[in-house]
Amino acid sequence: MRGRIQQAARQSGRHEKDIRLLAVSKGHGADEIKEAWTAGLGDFGENYLQEAQSKQQQLATLPLAWHFIGPLQSNKSAAVAEHFDWLHSLDRLKLAERLARQRPVGRPPLNICIQVNIDGEASKAGVEPGAVMDLARRVAGLPGLALRGLMAIPDPKQSRDQLECSFKAMQALYRQLQLEMPDQQIDTLSMGMSADLELAIACGSTLVRIGTDLFGPRPGKA
Ligand SMILES: *Cc1c(COP(=O)(O)O)cnc(C)c1O
Repeated sequence: MRGRIQQAARQSGRHEKDIRLLAVSKGHGADEIKEAWTAGLGDFGENYLQEAQSKQQQLATLPLAWHFIGPLQSNKSAAVAEHFDWLHSLDRLKLAERLARQRPVGRPPLNICIQVNIDGEASKAGVEPGAVMDLARRVAGLPGLALRGLMAIPDPKQSRDQLECSFKAMQALYRQLQLEMPDQQIDTLSMGMSADLELAIACGSTLVRIGTDLFGPRPGKA
């Protein structure tokens, strides 16, 4: 996996160390996560709260960083505020306000990426590109949260050229966010999965979310 990232980085004139690997462990057990941690991985991504919490309990003694990357219902925000280090799928102010209130005092801020619905898909979560800056400014003003950047899951049915356009549009939005909010630590553009990480890295991704290519196919659902 690192080999793929390394090669993609080299081909786009970037440094491998500037691209973080998030191991998406949904559908896989605590033992597989522990194995991946032993092999040197430290960031794990989960989509389903109940499934994640059971693994977090089993792995509580390991210094893992947990990223919530799936859609989050408001009534489940407390568990993310209490047990995660990152949320990649923030898509509304109300959720941010709840998380800010619920983040335990004394914990470092919850790292936040705003999810962008970059292809305007009716079925997909995320804010429209035109609404990103306004939401970002509001999130930046909340305690307990650290705005770190943007996340997207482009429409997988697109051609490679269309996909490249989507990634480039994300890169442009990300740069605009960095320019407009110089006082925030905007350093994360979360895009790229097993099928498209090379293109995402060529378009400036700083964090790729990889499941299948690390752990193999997911058993059952997810
Ligand atoms: C499942 C998932 C991934 C990983 O997908 P793979 O194709 O298995 O690499 C990445 N991001 C999100 C948001 C996911 O839900």
